Amino acid sequence: MDERIINHIKNILPIPKIEDHRNVLCVLPHPDDGEIGAGGTIAKLKSLGATVTYIMVTDGSAGIRDKSREETAEIRKKEQEKAAEILGVDKIIWLNYPDGGDYRIEDLKADLKKHVDTIDPDIVITVDPFLPYEAHPDHKNCGLAVAHVMMFHSMLVPIALFFTAYPNQYVCVDKYWQKKFEAIMAHKSQISEEILDLYRGYFELKASVNGEKIGCKYAEAFKVMSPIMFHAFEEALWV
Ligand SMILES: [Zn+2]
Repeated sequence: MDERIINHIKNILPIPKIEDHRNVLCVLPHPDDGEIGAGGTIAKLKSLGATVTYIMVTDGSAGIRDKSREETAEIRKKEQEKAAEILGVDKIIWLNYPDGGDYRIEDLKADLKKHVDTIDPDIVITVDPFLPYEAHPDHKNCGLAVAHVMMFHSMLVPIALFFTAYPNQYVCVDKYWQKKFEAIMAHKSQISEEILDLYRGYFELKASVNGEKIGCKYAEAFKVMSPIMFHAFEEALWV
């Protein structure tokens, strides 16, 4: 894509800073996604005075193989509540779709729309449904449902996508790195000490590479988009 076109778009449609928002809605496919992808940013937004609401799309019931779906959902809800409390999240709304994609995205959109109308957020944080090779139906459903609902809600409310291959914004989370890990560790059924050690190295490397781009130690990466960019917008990949 030609730089002149990208620069022109960046001038007429500047990308707002995530940290400038105070009514933050996070729409998350599973317990643990929010903490892993954006835990530092969520803790930072809280410390800046934002109200943060989580909408959990699924019940996480496919997350423990040797337990029933009901037992798993119950365990994972408790873990998510603990993790959210550590980050300071104000409210969690559970939509309780079955983990694994066995539901209609149209139903999810209708549910989301109701909550978006009530909460009227000034930014929505969710997963990037356009991550190349992303195959998990809950992640694709979640990101696409948010994009669809927000396109028709307001063209002015930005969407910040994490787990993205095309970041255009980095949030310094130096002061919140420890808290992010405390919150991740609340998801005990998913992340054992051993797995956490493996993750820690990978997460720290990524966050420090991101941090270098903005002159801090650790940063989380997002693709921030205006809803207008989700339709017939040929430059969306590059802005
Ligand atoms: Zn997930």
